[in-house]
Formats: sequence, structure tokens, C-alpha cells
Amino acid sequence: MNFCSQCGKPVIQRIPEGDSRLRYVCEHCQTIHYQNPNIVAGCLATLGDKVLLCRRAIEPRLGFWTLPAGFMENGETIEQAARRETVEEACATLSELALYAIIDVPHINQVHVFYRGEMATEDFAAGVESLEVQLFEEADIPWQDLAFLTVRRTLECFFADRRRQAYPVHTSALPPSRPIHTS
Ligand SMILES: [Zn+2]
Repeated sequence: MNFCSQCGKPVIQRIPEGDSRLRYVCEHCQTIHYQNPNIVAGCLATLGDKVLLCRRAIEPRLGFWTLPAGFMENGETIEQAARRETVEEACATLSELALYAIIDVPHINQVHVFYRGEMATEDFAAGVESLEVQLFEEADIPWQDLAFLTVRRTLECFFADRRRQAYPVHTSALPPSRPIHTS
């Protein structure tokens, strides 16, 4: 951040009184610009035995497969964000959703939240941010071409849970050093 979004003057970095972290502070209008993690919300959408994946048409990770997911907007709930992203990226609507995975990604200041849900209809199509959208059996999941480690982890949990027929909420955190996709 270079300039104050309140008054347009340059900001400096300092620790405000009573605080313990460096913040961007405007010395002209005294605004403290707090920066906090962003929430990425998405869905693991199923149709029978199959899981819906989208091949990304945008960077980062253009051409790689992902669960439909994206940044939560102001004024919506996490579940609404997850449903909206699934409509936008996969043109798919889901029945009831169940919270499934919360994955902290502190090195990029994000929290990824995935819900599980069965598709309400068999309809889906590529939205503008997707090159293609496809239903995959477990055996056909493109593990080597997944876009994000949080997507891999969520899919791994799902198939393991499905064998046990139990779907607890999974919470975890990603360490900073792991590559974006591993085999
Ligand atoms: Zn200012």
C-alpha cells in the first residue's frame, strides 16, 4: 500500500499505539489501514459417484483443475460465496451444503473453506473463468494437474471419507514450503 484510501496522501508503516504489529498508517488523516486474511470459499460438488472439477481459464494456475472456489465478497455468507462461485465457474446449482474443510494458508494470508453438496440437477457448463468443466470418477481425477494444494487435500479427504461413509469437518493448515502440487 502506498497511498491512503481515505484521503489519498502517502502512508507510512509503523506500529500504532497499543498495537503490536506494523500497519500502514496515514499521518494526514490518522487512518490505520488494517490488512486481514481473505476467505476463499468453494464447493466439492458431487453427482452420484462423480466430482465436479473446473479447468482454470485464468491465472494463477491457468489450465489446471480445481474445485469451483473464489474470494468471498462483502455482504455474503461463506456458504453463499461457495454457491455463487460454483454457479459462476461451473454453471451448477447444489442442493443442501455441508461444511467440509477449513484450510489455513497463512503464508499467503488466506483461509480456504470447502462445502460438500450434491448437484441439484445434472446441468453444468464452463463459466467465463473455466476452460472446461467435467465430472470425474475417483480413478480419473487428474491428480498431477490440480491447481492448488488445498484442492488436493480436500479431494483426498473426501475419497477417504467416502470409503468410511463418514464426513467429519476437516481442519488443517498448509506449511509455506510445500510446492503447489506434489505427487
Ligand atoms: Zn489519509
